[in-house]
Amino acid sequence: MLNIVIFGGPGSGKGTQSEKIIEKYGLEHISTGDVLRAEIKNKTELGKIADSYISKGQLVPDELIIDILASVFDKKKDSKGVIFDGFPRTIPQAEALKKMLSERGTSINAVVALEVADEELVIRLLNRGKISGRSDDNKETIQQRLNV
Ligand code: ADP
Repeated sequence: MLNIVIFGGPGSGKGTQSEKIIEKYGLEHISTGDVLRAEIKNKTELGKIADSYISKGQLVPDELIIDILASVFDKKKDSKGVIFDGFPRTIPQAEALKKMLSERGTSINAVVALEVADEELVIRLLNRGKISGRSDDNKETIQQRLNV
C-alpha cells in the first residue's frame, strides 16, 4: 500500500490537495473531519459528542477518534493505499496510527505538509464559511482552531 499523511492548518487545502493526490495515485481518502461531520449529520451518539467539540473549535478526544479510525481504515484496506487527511493531530493519535498500520502489515510511506500563513488561512476560512455551512467556519472558532 501507499499510505500518505497530509498535514496543514485549517483551510490550508488538505482536502483539495488530497483529491489531486488521490486522482494521480488511485488512493482512498480518510478525512476524520468528514467522518465526524457524517456522524453529526446522522445524529449518532458519537456525532452528538463530536459536535460539542467541533463547534467550539476544539479537538475531539483521542479515544473517540482512534476507536473509529480502525473500522474506517478496514473498509479501505484492500485498496492501493490511503491518504489520511486531518489525522493524526496529536502524539497519541500518531502512535495509535503507527500501531494500527503495523498490526495490518503496512505503514506510512510519506507525509505532505502544507504551509500557509495564518492571515491567509483566516481569509480563506471566512470565505469558505459563506458557502460551507460549517458551524466552525466563523471568526471566533477559526482563531481557536488556529491556536489548537
Ligand atoms: P480543518 O482542518 O479545517 O479544521 P477538519 O475537517 O480536518 O478541518 O477538522 C474539523 C474539526 O473536526 C476539528 O476542528 C476537530 O474538532 C475535529 N477533528 C478532525 N480531525 C480530528 C482529529 N484527528 N482529532 C480530533 N479532532 C478532530
